[in-house]
Amino acid sequence: MRYEGQIYRPPSEAESYILQATIGCSWNKCVYCDMYREKQFRVRELSETLTDLRTAARLTERRIDKVFVADGDALVLDMDHWRSILDCARSEPRLSRVSCYAMAENILNKSVDELRELRERGLSLLYIGPESGDDKTLKRIAKGSTFAEHVEAARKAHAAGMKISVIALLGIGGTERTVEHAERTAQLVTEMNPEYFSALTTSVVPNTPLVKLRDKGFWQLPNVNRMLEELRTIVDQARPDNALFRTNHASNYLPLGGQLPRDRQRIVAAIDAALAGKIPLRPDWARGL
Ligand code: SF4
Repeated sequence: MRYEGQIYRPPSEAESYILQATIGCSWNKCVYCDMYREKQFRVRELSETLTDLRTAARLTERRIDKVFVADGDALVLDMDHWRSILDCARSEPRLSRVSCYAMAENILNKSVDELRELRERGLSLLYIGPESGDDKTLKRIAKGSTFAEHVEAARKAHAAGMKISVIALLGIGGTERTVEHAERTAQLVTEMNPEYFSALTTSVVPNTPLVKLRDKGFWQLPNVNRMLEELRTIVDQARPDNALFRTNHASNYLPLGGQLPRDRQRIVAAIDAALAGKIPLRPDWARGL
């Protein structure tokens, strides 16, 4: 199993085999992100990818039961590439549940029929990170897609029978857009109606364009309490049908979990308790990106 550069995956894929089918991110422009900044995007040679997948199946025996296809927006792969990967994974029944990161644009660039075919071949879960529902924030952070495009992407994924995991980023609207960021993100979660929803907390990473925006006075990170208030607004106002909610990413100050809408009141009460100083927050030194 060969990897090039740093590998990233969602916390919920900790037990999955990470298959690096692409190197980097085809977009690589989001101002807060440094994950693949040093990598020139390319599609990995298919034969190498399939060899890694077969090797993983042989070496891991029964220890893994899912595959996460990396890197940053692997859904960008063309249909022939995906067919080969998914068919190879399906030949090992343990590895037939496949997921990947997807930008809204990756989804919009495929038809529902194509997405349905990928679903039938095993690609069952897409992780989508709009980060915000506020179009002004989306433009400022160079996310590449709007509120409406994210909603349409979610509609297509669902029409194809896929599940989606939506990721929001607390603080990314800055002090200036904190209210709009929280309220529109709640609306976006309602309209995307994900099966999984998680919130991460913005870290200002050295050498990203976000640092330049901050240093020039165009953007400022809200304080911790304000970001918790954003989280409170999002949880309180979002109306997904039934989403597993998590803030278990290492970037967060307050790890929470539950089912929305069922556990909304309990989660909001926990956030209120944290805001009142009754629940300790994760210290900055213990946070990760
Ligand atoms: S799409 Fe994801 S991986 Fe690519 S630059 Fe944006 S945040 Fe980073």
